[in-house]
Amino acid sequence: MFRNLKAVGRILYGRNSFDQLEDVLAELRIEKDSYVLFLLDPYFEGKDLMKRIPLHTQDILKIIDITDEPKTKTVDAIVAEVKSLRNGLPVSVVGIGGGSIMDYAKAIRLMFTNDGSSALYQGLDFIKNKGVHCTVIPTISGTGAEVSMTTVLSGPEKKLGIKGNFTPADQLVMDPDLIASVPEPHRFYTAMDCYIHNIEAANGHRKTIMGDSLGTESLRLCREIFLSTDSHTPENDEKLMVASFLGGLSLTYSEVGACHAISYGLATVLGIHHGIGNCVVFNQLEEFYPEGVKEFREMMKNNNIVIPTGVTANCTQEEIEKMIDVTLTLVFMWAHVCGPDWETIITREKLRGLLQKM
Ligand code: NAD
Ligand code: ZN
Repeated sequence: MFRNLKAVGRILYGRNSFDQLEDVLAELRIEKDSYVLFLLDPYFEGKDLMKRIPLHTQDILKIIDITDEPKTKTVDAIVAEVKSLRNGLPVSVVGIGGGSIMDYAKAIRLMFTNDGSSALYQGLDFIKNKGVHCTVIPTISGTGAEVSMTTVLSGPEKKLGIKGNFTPADQLVMDPDLIASVPEPHRFYTAMDCYIHNIEAANGHRKTIMGDSLGTESLRLCREIFLSTDSHTPENDEKLMVASFLGGLSLTYSEVGACHAISYGLATVLGIHHGIGNCVVFNQLEEFYPEGVKEFREMMKNNNIVIPTGVTANCTQEEIEKMIDVTLTLVFMWAHVCGPDWETIITREKLRGLLQKM
């Protein structure tokens, strides 16, 4: 049985397309008291982009702290706060930022129409009701959150996406100018999330021609950008934004692999963020992705990036075992990497050895 998949709804693409946001939202502001909930990455507080947000008097603008990756309790608190401030639901929840803010927007819009805590819905297809309209506007590229079927949240028990056909955004605005200000090494770390998605998707049992075709083009763009020594140009920003989109879409038809499975363990136990965590892990995965790791190191070198090492050096035995527990719950990823007999290959001992190298 095949899933009848859903990706992002409408796509507005081009330099300065952000300035058309007023027109996009005007189509939704039908009632007199309609309001929009804007969620903004803290980097933009007081900056020019914040002044360009088409904010009407009844709208709400929230700048969300993203020091930690998105949490179910923050999602729940924002939904409760907005419900207490306004009658009725927003006509769109607009997330302007990276994977963190886009995931907040995708989750918050679902929790306006589904009861209880967002933690109840972590996993596949637990959401019952369609959410309110959601607009995502990436300002840093690589995660593919702008197109994906998941919103990754850390709950009281686990870091796991709310995944399903209700999760993708309804509207995407891709304006490459918005990512020009991203500093290194953040830009590299998040971009490598895209590169790693493509390598993992292409090397596994759940690979499909659809996923592979999208991923191959994304990979070609990543190579053009990062095998050069002058990666941070306006043209490359546009390529990176498109690579992230294609990479995210390709994952809808494939699966991530060993790097993501292990980096979820690092994130849960040590709070290491997704982009940098993936780089730390991928750097040690020659055994799984020999050519990808070789090329990744070339990209690091060309872009003067040094990936941290020794991140697990001071971990207790208990912490290492907890990371292994988390990693082993990601059964779809391991089945993609090693096939149905993955449990005979991915042993606790093997994972311990890998984690100790990181
Ligand atoms: P991020 O959203 O956490 O942002 C990283 C940093 O970049 C922040 O400090 C932010 O303030 C800053 N920033 C953003 N835009 C900027 C700009 N234009 N100029 C200067 N600084 C800017 O980073 P990310 O890597 O995009 O997202 C990571 C999150 O995405 C994680 O929580 C991860 O779990 C999630 N994720 C989701 C999916 C999905 O499909 N939903 C996929 C992969 C990762
Ligand atoms: Zn990722």
